[in-house]
Order: sequence, then structure tokens, then C-alpha cells
Amino acid sequence: MAVVAVIGAQWGDEGKGKIIDELSMRADFVVRYQGGSNDGHRVVNANGEFSFHLVPSGILYPNITCIIGNGVVVDPKGLLQEMRQLQQQGVDISRLYISERAHVVMPYHFLLDRLEEEARGSEKMDIAQRGIRPAYVDKHARTGIRMADLLDVDTLRAKLSTILHQKNRMITQIYGQLPLSLEEIHGEYFKYGLQLHSHIQDTQKMLRDSLFEHKTILLEGAQGTLLDTDFGTYPFITSSSTMAGNAAVGAGLPPRSVDRIIGVYKAYTTRVGSGPMPTGLFDAMGETIRERGQEYGSNSGRERRCGWFDAVAGRFVAQLNGLDAMIVTKLDVLDTFPTIKICTAYNLRGQTIRSLPATLSDLAACEPLYEEVEGWQCSTTGINSYADLPQAAKAYLKRLEEFLETPIIMISVSPQRGKTIQIQDVLAPSSTDDRYPKNAIR
Ligand code: GDP
Ligand code: MG
Repeated sequence: MAVVAVIGAQWGDEGKGKIIDELSMRADFVVRYQGGSNDGHRVVNANGEFSFHLVPSGILYPNITCIIGNGVVVDPKGLLQEMRQLQQQGVDISRLYISERAHVVMPYHFLLDRLEEEARGSEKMDIAQRGIRPAYVDKHARTGIRMADLLDVDTLRAKLSTILHQKNRMITQIYGQLPLSLEEIHGEYFKYGLQLHSHIQDTQKMLRDSLFEHKTILLEGAQGTLLDTDFGTYPFITSSSTMAGNAAVGAGLPPRSVDRIIGVYKAYTTRVGSGPMPTGLFDAMGETIRERGQEYGSNSGRERRCGWFDAVAGRFVAQLNGLDAMIVTKLDVLDTFPTIKICTAYNLRGQTIRSLPATLSDLAACEPLYEEVEGWQCSTTGINSYADLPQAAKAYLKRLEEFLETPIIMISVSPQRGKTIQIQDVLAPSSTDDRYPKNAIR
């Protein structure tokens, strides 16, 4: 038994989907704990290629129960489409459950997301416009609709009529658009509730029971720590906490049930959308990394900015999350380079700094300082043991370990399931020692 959080340790798209897929073979539960359908994971196995937005990638295994936790915001229409698509690809989705407490992304969230982005003019945030931010705003403003509300026709109508009254004032008076119809939304979303009825559950109870049954639970992060609401490159962040600290809350588990926290890093850095990225390359090298790594958004197809591994940001993330270990993905993308750079510090207006500044202006002014190491210039994709990796690849990984002060326990060398080098067992059973003796009071 173990509860293991697998989180994105850069700006997202680190290959978490593939890693979760790889680990799911021996797990019982996979739980998404934050984000919404703005997230995209791609998983490739012998049965084909699968694209995930809301459904945890563990669904591809018959032994796994998948949970969309209370911390996620759910677009039921998109979710039903995703479920249909998976069914068409032969995946059994009967073991998918959604927390009754998860908030619903409503049509006005989509609309306001778009209208607000358009209103920003040249200050656009380059967001996915899937209603995620307005849905989280409503959650915290206490004007959200939750999955359980979709199951009760009267509650849904009562809540909607109050909320929609206010939203329509914004839509018509601020943005000059036509109001949305209560009847249409009520009818459509109640229907989604009926369709999802058997999947909407008290998932917190399911997980609590599974802890007592000593099950293995994977907590699947979306996006990455550098997009976290508190510690990401604010305001170019995502609207939920992506960090390990939120994994238990968003899943509905006690914080101390999490045994291990693992960060997934790409062997280089990418970022989709706007916002600072100190090691971003705008030259032929950036282009080569993008082509070799196929760095195009799985939701939007947008080009991801690419650059060398940023060990300053990497260490910040490792420390913040208290990572027990890291997993490095896409090592194969670096196979052809004669030399490879690692950003070990920033030059900020003449000063060498080794930490991530808090402000956007400082971060944008940071120039990366690199250490250059030898490339290995041969394919790593067929390799399945650490010992067989080329010496230069081992030396590169060793440097990453040293900079991040975090052990590497797994390395991925292809999008394909199975093409992964395991160094240590990510899911090794946890110690079952009691924290306090049962008979503390004698
Ligand atoms: P996620 O959001 O963190 O799950 O990552 P995405 O799925 O959005 O992006 C990662 C991309 O890299 C996907 O297309 C994966 O199929 C692919 N990928 C994952 N691991 C590897 C790897 O080790 N090598 C290569 N070449 N591609 C990989
Ligand atoms: Mg992704």
C-alpha cells in the first residue's frame, strides 16, 4: 500500500500522463485533484493513442478505479464527450467516479472567460478559454454549482436562477452581449446530471475506505508547480493549486496519508502560453527541441516554447513540494545534440542569483547562466536499464540530481508504454509505523 502524489514540476506537459499510465499497472486508484479540461495528457500504448482532459489516465487499466476529485472543476459536456471517445476506443469507463463536491464549469464560465480575454486587448493572458478561471472564481465566491446539484432538479433551478441573474447583468451590461437562458441551461445541465448519475459519488468515502483496505492510490497532478496560484509565475498561472500540498485536499484525503511526493520533469523545459520562461530559446535550437519533442499543446495544438533545463526553477519546485524523488521524461529528445546546457543560475541586472524571483519584471529580466555538458549522440529509446545508458547521459542526469538535490527514480525515453527505465520502485509499500503509540495515555 502507498499513496503517491505525481506532480508536474515545470510549466506542465512534463509527460505526467505517460508516467501515471506506466505506474497504474500496479495501482488501485488514480485520482485527479485539481484543474479542469484545460489539462491535456497524451498516452500511447499497443491499443492506440489516447487523449485525456478530465478522465485520469489510469482508466486504461481494468484494475483501476479513477476518481475526479473535489478539487477539480468539471465541464460535464466535455467530460461526456471524452467518456464517449474513450468508449469508442474500447475503454471501459464504468470505474470512473466524480466527486459530488467537484464544481461544475457552466456555459457562462466559458462565455465570460472569452469575453474577459477579449477585453484585455493587447494584455491577453493567452488562456485556454475553457471556463476554468471563472469556475474557480465562483467556487471561492461561493456562487458555484457542484456536481451533486446537477442531480436535483429543484436545487439546480433555484441556484441557477440566482446566479444567472447576476451573470446576465455582467454579460449584457458590461459586455453588451445577449443574456443566457435559464430554461436552456437548466434543461441541458440537468440532463448531464442524469447521464452522469451513476458516476457522481461520495468519492471521499471511497478513498477513506481504500486507505483502510491498504490500497495503492496515485494522485495525478495537472499542469505544473510553476503554474501554481501561489508559487507560479503570477499572474501567468493556472487557477488552482498544482502543488503537492493541495493533492490531499483536492482528492479528499488526509494530508498525512500521502506517503511519497514525486515530481515529473522533462529533460529540458517547455512552456505553453504567455509568461516568463528564462531558458526559452527563440533560435534554431529551440526549433529543433520543439520538432524532436513534438512540443505542440495537446489541447490547442499551440507551439510550446522550448529551452534548456532550468535547474534554478527545478530546485525551487523540488524544495517547495518537498519532493522525495524526481522522474525525468523525454531524455530521448536530447539524443542528437553534441552538447547540452543546464541553467544553473540567473544574471539579474548584473547580479548572479540562484533562486526564482517573485516579480514578473525581475523574472523577465533574468538571463540564464549555463553549464555545458557533453551530449551522447546515440539513441536512448531502446534502453531499459540505467546501467546501459551512455556515459554522457548518466553524467547529465547526475548533474540534474546534484542541482536539484533530489534522486531520480525513473527515466522515460519514448512516448510508448514500457519504454521507461526504472531505478527505484516508485510504488514501494510505505512503512506502516504508527506515528503515536496507540496506548499513549496509560
Ligand atoms: P502531461 O500534460 O504532463 O501529461 O504531458 P502531455 O501529454 O501534455 O505532453 C507530453 C508529451 O510527450 C505527450 O505527447 C507524450 O506522449 C510525450 N512523451 C511522454 N514521455 C515521453 C518520452 O519519454 N519521450 C518522448 N519522445 N515523448 C514522450
Ligand atoms: Mg499536458
